[in-house]
This record gives sequence, C-alpha cells and structure tokens, in this order.
Amino acid sequence: MRILIVEDDKDLNRQLVEAFTNAGYAVDTAEDGDEGHFLGDTEPYDAVVLDIGLPGMDGITVLENWRREGRAMPVLILTARDRWNDKVSGIDAGADDYVTKPFHIEEVLARVRALIRRAAGHAASQITCGDLMVDTRTSRVTLRGNPVKLTSHEFRLLSYLMHHQEKVISRTELTEHLYDQDFDRDSNTIEVFIGRLRKKLKGDYIETVRGLGYRLAVPAAENAGTGG
Ligand code: CA
Repeated sequence: MRILIVEDDKDLNRQLVEAFTNAGYAVDTAEDGDEGHFLGDTEPYDAVVLDIGLPGMDGITVLENWRREGRAMPVLILTARDRWNDKVSGIDAGADDYVTKPFHIEEVLARVRALIRRAAGHAASQITCGDLMVDTRTSRVTLRGNPVKLTSHEFRLLSYLMHHQEKVISRTELTEHLYDQDFDRDSNTIEVFIGRLRKKLKGDYIETVRGLGYRLAVPAAENAGTGG
C-alpha cells in the first residue's frame, strides 16, 4: 500500500511519515498544497492524509480539484480544533473521513487502514483468502493459523494482493502501489518478491496470468478440500 501525506507542519509531517513507514506503507510526502495536489493527481495512492491549512493551494481546494479531475482515492483530512466548519467543507469537497488536531497517530493509522479496506470492499480488519489471513491492524500474516514471517516489502505486496484478491493485478500496478517516489525500483523487481512470497506461502495462492500479471486466490486444491 502506498500513501501520500500532505502536511506543512514539519514535525507532524515527520511523525506521520515515520508511523506509516513503520506500519509497512510506502509513503510520499508534500509540505504545500500545490505539490500535494500535483502528486495526488499524477501518482496512484491507496489513501491520502491531507491537512486543510496549507501554504499555496489550501487543502479544501486541493481536494475539490482532485475530485473534479476524477481522482477517487480515499482521503482523510486533518482539521484544526477551532475550525469546525473545515470538517463540513472538507466532507462536502469529497473527504472520506477526518481527524481533528491534536490527535494520536494511532487514530490516523486506524482510520486510514479502514478507508483502504473499505475502498477494496473489506469491512473487517482481518482479510482472509482460504487458509491465509492478513491482520491489517497488526500487520501479521498467518497460514493455517501459523505465523508467516515476511519482510516489509513482502508484506506490502501480499497485503495489496489480499485487498484486491480474485483480480488480476499487473506488474505496473504493483510497482506503483508498493514503492514510494524515491525508491530504486529497478533493483527490487516484483518477480523476485513474488517468488519469495510463494515460497513462504507454501501453496499456489499467487497465480501468474501470462501477459497480464498476478492473481491471488484460494488454491484449487484447498477449494476442493473444503467440499465447496
Ligand atoms: Ca497546516
């Protein structure tokens, strides 16, 4: 999962970047409205954390422009406590949720997790595919109840596939949602990570769809085993 943080308060920006990075996300960041707007308009994010009070283009205008341009990613806005009307304008402008400053980072993380899940059609925080389970709260993975140890890149890849299971995901889409802007993408190819994941998952959860990409689904053998 890849997210964008648009926040001009340097301290807060850094704290958010750190928290989301530790939680396993690829993170891009902007400190003013114009750059934030540009990134959100040109890069495919799974969610955006957008401060309303920004230098340059303000947060409400950034959001209005994205929605007018057809950008549909989930957006969580950050509003100042003494500006209740920002929530109303923000939601009217197309925000999916809000958090009022000052906030606990955990709350922002939880709300963004929920937005990403719901955007992919999952209501519960544990996403399952047959015997495989990803807990989006704890970033833990289990297979038949046993923990599976993954690196942060492997987790990010699996989490994206689990959120979008049964769909064919192209290599380009995976690359765009797994790496931040500054990442050296060439040296860490998707094929390598897919290979490692397959080994750790000990099953055919990840199918290669020739010429199109990858699809995560319940393995045929497992399906037959459950009798349905
Ligand atoms: Ca601000």
